[in-house]
Amino acid sequence: MLEIKNLHVKLEDEDKQILKGLDLTVEAGKVHAIMGPNGSGKSTLSYVLSGRDGYEVTEGSATLAGEDLLELDPEERAALGVFLAFQYPVEIPGVGNMTFLRTAVNSQRKARGEEELSAADFLKSIRAKAKELKIDADMLKRPVNVGFSGGEKKRNEILQMAMLEPKMCILDETDSGLDVDAMKLVAEGVNALRDEGRGFLVITHYQRLLDHIKPDVVHILADGKIVKTGGPELAMEVENNGYAGILAEVS
Ligand code: ADP
Ligand code: MG
Ligand code: MG
Repeated sequence: MLEIKNLHVKLEDEDKQILKGLDLTVEAGKVHAIMGPNGSGKSTLSYVLSGRDGYEVTEGSATLAGEDLLELDPEERAALGVFLAFQYPVEIPGVGNMTFLRTAVNSQRKARGEEELSAADFLKSIRAKAKELKIDADMLKRPVNVGFSGGEKKRNEILQMAMLEPKMCILDETDSGLDVDAMKLVAEGVNALRDEGRGFLVITHYQRLLDHIKPDVVHILADGKIVKTGGPELAMEVENNGYAGILAEVS
């Protein structure tokens, strides 16, 4: 699904190299977790994959189902099936949540050459998905994320993800700032979307999210590179011993 080879990324405006030869393959149907110390480049990786400005790829490649992602603008990547759930979801005053989602869903369908969803089909689909995520009708009508609590914003992101049906879901510290119940809801939402045709990259600082979203593979990212790859036990090792032991072992 997602194949990243020897990715080197620097800041556009500064002489600062952030990713330094990152290799990563996420297969369809699999959940890969990335853990790593603060400042190791985890968010940069998610931004570069989604096409955010400010970063320059100096070497390497990133493809989704064989398509060169780095050549595409952010909208084209989204239409291809890349979805990034942010650490800090944006508020959009004046735009109703439901209107926003309908526009997003239909513009992606259009970009893929598919027919728009009818108002009735859209409504049926969003109501069912909102119910699963315990998002009430009122939250669907309010402006996007405005006045939402941290937990509501994250659940709303999972709703966006569920509606857009992406091929590659990237969650960047979606668990940060959530209490245990909100985190469980987010995890359940993600688990409900696990599918043979879909890959996940779950970036997290803490093991606790991975108790609820069981990853197939865990990677440790340090200083711009994947330095260790293993199974769920690797996340336990981080939880118990921190990163120091792993970093000493690989250096
Ligand atoms: P992580 O998500 O693993 O904590 P980041 O990808 O956010 O790491 O950051 C990696 C490094 O790059 C950090 O040293 C960070 O300060 C720096 N960095 C990332 N983006 C920017 C930016 N836009 N401007 C300045 N420094 C940045
Ligand atoms: Mg950070
Ligand atoms: Mg980060």
